[in-house]
Amino acid sequence: MNEPAIADKFAAFEELIPPLTDLNAPYREALSRGELILQRCKSCSSYQYPFESFCYECGSTELEHKISLGQGSIYSFVKVHQPYHSAFKPFIPYTVATIQLDEGPRLLCAMLELTTEVEIGDRVTPRIERITASESMLTYELEGS
Ligand SMILES: [Zn+2]
Repeated sequence: MNEPAIADKFAAFEELIPPLTDLNAPYREALSRGELILQRCKSCSSYQYPFESFCYECGSTELEHKISLGQGSIYSFVKVHQPYHSAFKPFIPYTVATIQLDEGPRLLCAMLELTTEVEIGDRVTPRIERITASESMLTYELEGS
């Protein structure tokens, strides 16, 4: 049996996509180009996510966008066995993890297609999945898998 096309697997996610805002648009546009970006403070050089209009560390409003390799490790995770939305049914059970990025920020993501169990501290690598004609989603897989 053939695997369903990526677009088919993620079709039900479309209604979960939040509206574009001035803050999230650059991140989402970068993802749709296949790039992960973070905000970086021009004053204290710290990276941050989620995006905000000021630096979480020093309060500066001088922020820029920097491409991230997205490499990091599992900081925490849960395994989800309930399909809280029909979009997730094909992926049950799946893992939701907090990823500790090498640049410093942590981000939350669903690891929908893991084939092995994860542990805290495992190294992970990002994968960007196209879910609609204009939107992509960040997910993670174990490094080397
Ligand atoms: Zn700062």
